Amino acid sequence: MGSDKTRFGLDETRIPEAWYNVAPDLKNPPAPPKAFAPDGTELGPDQIGERLASLFPMEILKQEMSAERWIDIPGAVIDVYKTYRPSPLLRARQLEKDLGLPEGVKIFYKYEGVSPAGSHKPNTAIPQAYYNKAEGITKIATETGAGQWGSAMSIAGALYGIDVEVFMVGVSYDQKPYRRILMETYGGTVHKSPSNLTESGRHVLAMDPDSTGSLGIAISEACEVAIKDPGTHYALGSVLNHVCLHQTIIGLEAIEQMALANEEPDVVVACVGGGSNFAGIAFPYYHRKLEGKSKARLLAVEPKACPTLTAGEYRYDLGDEAGMTPQMLMYTLGHDFVPAGIHAGGLRYHGDSPLVSQLVHEGEAEAVAVDQTACFAAAVQFARAEGILPAPESSHAILAAINEAKDAQAKGEDRTILFNLSGHGHFDLAAYAAYNAGELKDFDFAAGATLCDDAL
Ligand SMILES: *Cc1c(COP(=O)(O)O)cnc(C)c1O
Repeated sequence: MGSDKTRFGLDETRIPEAWYNVAPDLKNPPAPPKAFAPDGTELGPDQIGERLASLFPMEILKQEMSAERWIDIPGAVIDVYKTYRPSPLLRARQLEKDLGLPEGVKIFYKYEGVSPAGSHKPNTAIPQAYYNKAEGITKIATETGAGQWGSAMSIAGALYGIDVEVFMVGVSYDQKPYRRILMETYGGTVHKSPSNLTESGRHVLAMDPDSTGSLGIAISEACEVAIKDPGTHYALGSVLNHVCLHQTIIGLEAIEQMALANEEPDVVVACVGGGSNFAGIAFPYYHRKLEGKSKARLLAVEPKACPTLTAGEYRYDLGDEAGMTPQMLMYTLGHDFVPAGIHAGGLRYHGDSPLVSQLVHEGEAEAVAVDQTACFAAAVQFARAEGILPAPESSHAILAAINEAKDAQAKGEDRTILFNLSGHGHFDLAAYAAYNAGELKDFDFAAGATLCDDAL
């Protein structure tokens, strides 16, 4: 069994031709979004559809609600995917050695840092720009946390000739000037959020002039811009069903690559912010489990400072601060929750993908929350062993993968671990500088920590 190789490549003719939609395979049908008029009456599906049509192209909305298991990837999107896909799948041999793992405990990772943005985000930015362009949209307004989504959207906008306006969470805008420069170089326009350009931003600043922002606030600002201009649409980099759908290219490739390695994972691990890279690698394995070909546990990893799946409530909540978005049934810490300024900016979202939430709620996926400093220690160990400097977000998956390996070793069990390395950390060196200087702290939501700017 197994293969001696370290890297498991597919040639570009083996890119999957359809995305996998998990919705029809869930135990229960996904709960529909809800929205309310200002007087409190609930809107019907048509009225919600109308609202969403001012934000998204029709093709994207169809995917959002689709009950089809497989959705064809347009040929023009596959052509762009081919510029960086299939992404590599590697066995972490040096890390395994470093950890002193026995032969039966193996660690594999799928590496999404090879995309032009350095993360998995272009997997959805590219089709979103494609569908918007096809419907004659000239501008996309969006938000970004750590800057990864804004970069991905700016690149996709440049590829398709669409203007991109990005509201960047204030704390990251200050921490990550290079991401902003990257977005601007690709032609994007970047605003620090909360800004005084929108009603939602002005409202937040009036309450708290020093607000460091949150994804929820930035989403409100971007939606407001899109709603007010018919030529402008909105795009979201995570959470929604169509985003999870596009990301399944990760897991579909991984399944083929693990077959080249003659291995089946016992556990599939990914970090969770809004849930899209976890969905990307885990949903295709969920399908494989339903087919009876896999028994893999699906493990979602989140920061203790923003532990949506492990400490949030499963209920309807808004996707944003100001109530521009419909309510979705998901795990949430409350739409007005502002998490501590941890360096994994992409994991600071109050809610989570409804599809990922449902898998956790139905007991089909597990979730665990980990500390920031332990994540950085794992990231540094990984970098020194494997050579890749991980994004702070991805370090959550690395830590959980290492913990899985140690657990198997302690129990004398064999275990094949597959994790998604969602991106590289080349734009996160300020965070590594803080870690190297011993300045990083842990923020535990359970201990009542919320806004702790002294971490920055
Ligand atoms: C955005 C981002 C995340 C978190 O978003 P998900 O939608 O949960 O995947 C994780 N890792 C990287 C590198 C990111 O850019």
